[in-house]
Amino acid sequence: TAAIVWFRRDLRLADNPALQAACAGNRPIVPVYVHAPEELGAWAPGAASDWWLHQSLAALAGELRELGLDLVLRRGPSLQALTRLIRETGADAVHWNRLYEPAIIARDREIKAELRRAGLEVHSHNAALLHEPWTVQTGTGGDYRAFTPFWKACRRREEPPAPAPAPTQLAAPAGGLPEGEPLDAMGLLPAIRWDRKLEGHWQPGSAGAEARLAAFLDDGLASYDEGRDLPAQPATSRLSPHLHFGEIGPRQVWHAVQRRLARDGAGSLTAGAEAFLAEVGWREFAYHVLFHHPGFPDEPLNPRFSRFPWREDDGRLRHAWERGETGLPMVDAGMRELWATGWMHNRVRMVTGSLLVKNLRLPWQQGERWFWDTLVDADLASNSLGWQWVAGSGADAAPYFRVFNPVRQGERFDPDGEYVARWIPELAGLPAQHRHAPWQAPASALRAAGLRLDEHYPRPVVDLKRSREEALEAFQLIKQAS
Ligand code: FAD
Repeated sequence: TAAIVWFRRDLRLADNPALQAACAGNRPIVPVYVHAPEELGAWAPGAASDWWLHQSLAALAGELRELGLDLVLRRGPSLQALTRLIRETGADAVHWNRLYEPAIIARDREIKAELRRAGLEVHSHNAALLHEPWTVQTGTGGDYRAFTPFWKACRRREEPPAPAPAPTQLAAPAGGLPEGEPLDAMGLLPAIRWDRKLEGHWQPGSAGAEARLAAFLDDGLASYDEGRDLPAQPATSRLSPHLHFGEIGPRQVWHAVQRRLARDGAGSLTAGAEAFLAEVGWREFAYHVLFHHPGFPDEPLNPRFSRFPWREDDGRLRHAWERGETGLPMVDAGMRELWATGWMHNRVRMVTGSLLVKNLRLPWQQGERWFWDTLVDADLASNSLGWQWVAGSGADAAPYFRVFNPVRQGERFDPDGEYVARWIPELAGLPAQHRHAPWQAPASALRAAGLRLDEHYPRPVVDLKRSREEALEAFQLIKQAS
């Protein structure tokens, strides 16, 4: 009898423990993906994620087809879809890889219990993390709230197991596979095809993920520690959407880095590798925090922040931020990169986030939502962690009073104004030293660049100095109140 492999965010054939367990002994398998966004509650995937998912499912279906199997696509509810598939195929086992979002944990628990009650063999596996959230504990058996001790504890644990290669053959059930729905009918692509702009930037699917990793190991790893904060450079891996959808797993990344270092004769982790693996560690930490604090995406981990006096905004400030029209080039460049590519450099995520939360004093949840809808790597754990970090309200928080100045950040991390010029071509004619603060540029420089402020590019929507002081005053209020 056949075993069902329920693909979710593990859209790869290599290093896929559920697939590996299901097809052991060349047992026939039924590969299925169930589209059930409503089961994620308030955090159903956004538009950019849907675009990626569509492409990624097409890629996975192609890989399975090469092995002689069709990926069966079904609509949710998941339990009903699986039950129907069991009836249609006579399968007596179901395998999947675990996810850690609170709504999914609750759903999966229920499905596991139901299927077991019906006499099925049901197994869940780990494909998404180096160390599952409950396996990393403080000395007293608790969870971690700070990254550094968390990562130290991870590093003391056993090496993550080596990833299994993709199966070279898969058997279909004797009676064949049942019909699924066509991918195009899943409604993952937008009616107005704005998503086409993303195509030039990404290759969703495991082949694209492996190509990214290989290119990064060749060109990025050695100097990652130096280059990773410079948004104009292609210095980071851009693996985040691939990792989010499980087109590649952290174990594959981990072992590929170790193999590369061994090949190059490095006796221990180089500074570049150390820094890169620590970032993969931040992803693990985000899942750890989310698992132990299920309210994390919506509520500040530090409850004091639920009383924070946010600014009343008629929508104008938020829209200026979303559209990259704040008049602060480093922020606007980031927001435009996000809109154009579905991704934003980590340094700039922090700078744009800081402006929203500190200078504009708008709730971090508004930024979190915008990122959720526009990022191709939108991930509940990492996005919540990023926003609570920026707001200073969460685990391992940067203290609230650390306010990024977008002009100083630009001068430091984009010293040639290259990043700004790429995303805001209106400013490209200005000499580099004025690109981060065009409103302070001398009239002659503006004239020479053919740039008229207000007409071609806005002046800042906030006064950085005053808004910073107001934010600090607001912070004092909640500090005193507690
Ligand atoms: P690299 O520098 O090459 O890092 C390798 C991998 O490590 C990444 O692919 C990612 O999986 C992981 N990683 C790196 N930095 C972090 C981090 N700070 N937190 C968690 N994981 C990390 N990352 C997401 O994957 N999804 C999100 O929705 C997301 N939202 C964010 C929101 C804010 C406000 C901030 C400040 C950060 C957010 N991040 C998010 C983290 C980080 O910005 C991205 O993971 C990173 O920019 C992805 O680029 P990369 O793949 O080139 O990273």
